[in-house]
Amino acid sequence: MDCIFCKIAAGEIPCKKIYEDERVLAFFDIQPQAPVHALIIPKTHVASADELTAQTAGVAADVFGAVPKVARACGLTRGYRVITNVGEDGCQSVRHLHCHLLGGRKLPEEMG
Ligand code: AMP
Repeated sequence: MDCIFCKIAAGEIPCKKIYEDERVLAFFDIQPQAPVHALIIPKTHVASADELTAQTAGVAADVFGAVPKVARACGLTRGYRVITNVGEDGCQSVRHLHCHLLGGRKLPEEMG
């Protein structure tokens, strides 16, 4: 499968790693939109939150379970925002489920 995040998870494409365990990987976004902009991906390929099922919901739990660890590793003591984009209207550019973790400054109130 030609998926850039699968290749990053497999170590075939380098990343600036923040956190890793057997099921998830977190790394800095290549085009940061905040002082801290991390991505958290499952090592299992799921295309987006819209593809989740009762059988694969654990993949989302793994990603969310890593959120506080990544936030602490990035020094985000004052809060942060977690976003997952879905599909064309959600402006999802990489079709592998991921959370954006944004922080390091007061973020705009607008969500969309
Ligand atoms: P989305 O638009 O929600 O699908 O988010 C995909 C994110 O992946 C974007 O913010 C990109 O900047 C980021 N991205 C794409 N390729 C890489 C890469 N090789 N390393 C780090 N971040 C990447």
